[in-house]
Amino acid sequence: MDMGKGGKLDQQSTIYTFDEVSKHDKKDDRWLVIQGNVYDITDWSNRHPGGSKVIGHYVGQDATDKSIEEDFRKLRSTAVQMGLFKANFLYFALYFLHVVVFEILAYLTLYYFGSGWIPFLVSVLLYGAFQAQSAYLSHDFGHLAVFHNTALDRFFEYYLLAFNKGASPHWWNHMHFQHHAKPNVMGKDPDVRLDKFLVVGQVMPVEVAQSKKSSLPFNLQDKYFPLFGPTLLFPIYFHYTCYKHVFTRKLWVDLAVMIIYNIKFLFLFVPVLGWGWTLVYYEAFRVIDSMWFAWVTQSNHIPMNIDHDDNKPWLKLQLFGYVMLNNHCSMTGLLDV
Ligand SMILES: [Zn+2]
Repeated sequence: MDMGKGGKLDQQSTIYTFDEVSKHDKKDDRWLVIQGNVYDITDWSNRHPGGSKVIGHYVGQDATDKSIEEDFRKLRSTAVQMGLFKANFLYFALYFLHVVVFEILAYLTLYYFGSGWIPFLVSVLLYGAFQAQSAYLSHDFGHLAVFHNTALDRFFEYYLLAFNKGASPHWWNHMHFQHHAKPNVMGKDPDVRLDKFLVVGQVMPVEVAQSKKSSLPFNLQDKYFPLFGPTLLFPIYFHYTCYKHVFTRKLWVDLAVMIIYNIKFLFLFVPVLGWGWTLVYYEAFRVIDSMWFAWVTQSNHIPMNIDHDDNKPWLKLQLFGYVMLNNHCSMTGLLDV
């Protein structure tokens, strides 16, 4: 058998059964099916534009969407013709401007009114809003959805995420593209990889209970999560995963901009607040940002179906991950599930 590097497996049109393909789902042995052809993507997956993890979630599976592919293409081209993918630059300009204004107001509040309790709290809230809105705006640039130009969109993503928040855009894309490739799929979508601490959906709580691996009182999670979730998510968990990602992949540009953010923050706030209160301020705005983020993202996930990878085609996954569908919905017939 000719194992081409990322090419079709066999030029002599050997027929593979799906069982055979599904065995090749290891890190060093990756096959997948696209439009009826079997591909060995073991080497090529490292060069996948969305990162090897994203395409890796489809190995051993059919990555095409044969049943509804044609309908999806028509729907997409209609959306393109209607101009739905065109960004409204005025909207993005105003969005960008209000992010800048929040940052300046947060700083000026302390600078003019001093470091008393009220200016401190008002400033933290403004800075928290600046942080949260920077993240949501950077999301759209991360998808190259504003300029549809890699260099320009990436520039703004670095400004908003790395320079404004001290986070690595590469780390964020790495996590977020997996989420879009396999929304709400346990073990694949990082946004529902919470089972150490919080169980979501119908399947995860049952499995965690049966595995007896955790002794956390999950029946009380609605009480303890709002208290511990946000305080741990951004300040501890995101910092840890972000820096680990940057160092293991040697992303020195990301690291440099992240360090510049921290210098900028300390340079602005230490002279006004002193070291101790600057650290309290840092922790406080991270918690606000964390709560904001957990609220927004989990509202997207928790009401939806959260399950293992049962090889649902991509479009069905998108619909079930993002769109509320009930049994009486006319889409159900189309979706055949
Ligand atoms: Zn997204």
